[in-house]
Amino acid sequence: MSRDPLQDVRDQYDVVVIGGGLGGMTAANILARAGHRVLLAEQHFKLGGLATWFRRGERIFDVSLHGFPVGMIKSCRRYWSAEIADSIVQLKDIRFDNPMFSLSTTFDRDDFTRLLIERFQVPPEKVEEFFDAARNMNFYDDQTLTVGRLFERFFPGREDVVRLLMEPITYANGSTLEDPALSYGIVFSNFMSKGVYTFRDGTEHLIRLMGRELKKNGVDLRLRCPVDNIHVDKQKQVEGVTIAGRRINTRAIVSNANLLGTIFNLVGPEHWDADFLEQARAVRLNNSSTQVYMALKPDMPIERGQCGDLLFSSTAPTFRTESLLSRDITSRTYSFYYPDTRPSLGRCVIVASSNANYGDWAGLSKEDYPAGKRDLIENALTAIEKYLPDVRDRLDYVEAATPLTFERYTKHLAGASFGTKFEGLAVSRALPEHVAGLYHTGSVGIIMSGWLGAVNYGVIVANNVDAFLMKEQAV
Ligand SMILES: Cc1cc2nc3c(=O)[nH]c(=O)nc-3n(C[C@H](O)[C@H](O)[C@H](O)COP(=O)(O)OP(=O)(O)OC[C@H]3O[C@@H](n4cnc5c(N)ncnc54)[C@H](O)[C@@H]3O)c2cc1C
Repeated sequence: MSRDPLQDVRDQYDVVVIGGGLGGMTAANILARAGHRVLLAEQHFKLGGLATWFRRGERIFDVSLHGFPVGMIKSCRRYWSAEIADSIVQLKDIRFDNPMFSLSTTFDRDDFTRLLIERFQVPPEKVEEFFDAARNMNFYDDQTLTVGRLFERFFPGREDVVRLLMEPITYANGSTLEDPALSYGIVFSNFMSKGVYTFRDGTEHLIRLMGRELKKNGVDLRLRCPVDNIHVDKQKQVEGVTIAGRRINTRAIVSNANLLGTIFNLVGPEHWDADFLEQARAVRLNNSSTQVYMALKPDMPIERGQCGDLLFSSTAPTFRTESLLSRDITSRTYSFYYPDTRPSLGRCVIVASSNANYGDWAGLSKEDYPAGKRDLIENALTAIEKYLPDVRDRLDYVEAATPLTFERYTKHLAGASFGTKFEGLAVSRALPEHVAGLYHTGSVGIIMSGWLGAVNYGVIVANNVDAFLMKEQAV
């Protein structure tokens, strides 16, 4: 008989964290370190949320470990552990291949400056001006300026330059030319500071270390524990949660679950005022993803020089948001994992990722869905033959994920890979103004997405919750 996942759980906590993604785990860790009694309830059988991996025999596939900015080192050192921070290493060979250009870069400001001046013939002062403008953007700026208009202002008519600057960020957080320039500027500047980084030994190792740290700091960690409801009293103050029919009381809640799922499903529309509901209903979910995971035979490795670490590949003649999302995939990001940076793999693994629309997959019949997955795999193999002509002979395993896969494992509405669009940030931040003690952390508003964004948002929210609990205690 399997063990009750809620065995010996307490009746009362200071904080219940719903969901063990990077945002939820970070918030839980900080709050436990500050001395609060924290319960972390995760519905899945493992921690990590979208920061996840899966095994097939001896093969391990990382789902979202393609690259993050250098800021992750500082955040991990300060809010997690030196061991975690010390496991972060740079990816030095980032490649682009599309009908407009093919190049290799270390993806930092120096190298991008060189490329823009020498290769794309942009005047040096324009390049400096652009980098400075992107770096100096902040929340108080004009949020009506879109990414597209920002590029038009600096590089009018230069679709090739826009593609170089925008394509990787679109893959990194789903942002588009129609989003506020601010969301682009902050994420782009984060990457441009010192390049792209990864976690040596993969997601499994990172999440294991984080889980160990959470336990050491006293977090009551419960897997296979979906939170069904958040209870709110008549004074609009959180009272507790229900997990598998069991009521647990708490003074504060941090939901790492999808923002809209938190508002409409966990709390329920009856607890919010009409204006806030309207604001929440206007929040758009971000797009989802498809992926094809390819494991090579252990005795058939690839040389790093052949494909690099990360390859942004596209056959679309120009950069267009719609073509990035289309089921007729023309753009893919390939992550290449080698045994030298991932010794535990003992082989090379390739993950091809594309942005995708949930609706293109959700409506498929029982017969069409597996057929769609087979097409996805077949097209990815054909596309990668351009870089590895004998890839089919080298493979010993291949599998695909669709938006439905992401929805199934994380409960994100519509399988959103990056939470919500920009307007979600204000709604996420406003929850405690409407229900005292209720906070949200997790992918919203593009800036608070991705590994670094999620960790940093967890930090911000943990500090807010700590202040709330201290104030309550003082009353
Ligand atoms: C294909 C793909 C590739 C990506 N690549 C990158 C990349 O290269 N670099 C990068 O920086 N970012 C990348 N990302 C994005 C990044 O992984 C996410 O932004 C980040 O991990 C999200 O963290 P989060 O805190 O928002 O929580 P999430 O990871 O969304 O986790 C939420 C957690 O809440 C749990 N949960 C939900 N509902 C409940 C409930 N009712 N009860 C209990 N638990 C619940 C879920 O199971 C989940 O564990 C990628 C994402 C995808 C999908």
